[in-house]
Amino acid sequence: DSFHDVDMGEIIMGNINLTRYTCPTPVQKHAIPIIKSKRDLMACAQTGSGKTAAFLLPVLSQIYSDGPGEAAQAHCFSHTQDSGRYGRRKQYPLSLVLAPTRELALQIYDEARKFAYRSRLRPCVVYGGADIGQQIRELERGCHLLVATPGRLVDMMERGKIGLDYCNYLILDEADRMLDMGFEPQIRRIVEQDTMPPKGVRQTMMFSATFPKEIQILARDFLEDYIFLAV
Ligand code: AMP
Repeated sequence: DSFHDVDMGEIIMGNINLTRYTCPTPVQKHAIPIIKSKRDLMACAQTGSGKTAAFLLPVLSQIYSDGPGEAAQAHCFSHTQDSGRYGRRKQYPLSLVLAPTRELALQIYDEARKFAYRSRLRPCVVYGGADIGQQIRELERGCHLLVATPGRLVDMMERGKIGLDYCNYLILDEADRMLDMGFEPQIRRIVEQDTMPPKGVRQTMMFSATFPKEIQILARDFLEDYIFLAV
């Protein structure tokens, strides 16, 4: 029972040591190998179970070892050389985490920053009810993993600031709360847009405390041949 049972690369492993997590929680123990094996996942897990690291660790290690990829490279990795300043470009994150609230989005972002330390992977966070200009300036400095609340992400997409064309890892965190808050239209708009890699191409992970009918439908629509995990 150790994080070292799964290879997540030296940098990420070093960052796990810095956080002083010694032993994986049950959801981490089960979800990390499933995600590393590239399967879609529907996980029933509560807040406090350690679910954030359960998806962030394998996804960050995967996007780190995938590298930028040729298509995404032009967009994601060249902007600082562009014109000697941060080029006002659209950002194409390699991974997206959708979360219901500003508080949860910020918690996920804080954890992502710890795990991405010294990896050159840049996490960003966008959420409603805060100055959008500031968030756009942060995005323009580069964004490999985006944590977002659904409404603000739709706004960013409409402004042409975010493209999901290379988003091969999609996580819906606290999916039941997002539906309770009425975000289903925004979530469908994000996930079902033409430019998003389709299910089966992208890897999709859903986390939810409960598994009612509406979540089962979302899982059917967004996940491909998924593994169901309840902890
Ligand atoms: P979460 O359920 O992801 O919100 O995590 C709940 C809390 O547990 C957070 O404060 C994490 O920093 C902490 N945590 C997550 N995984 C571990 C672990 N393996 N060992 C110790 N603490 C952890």
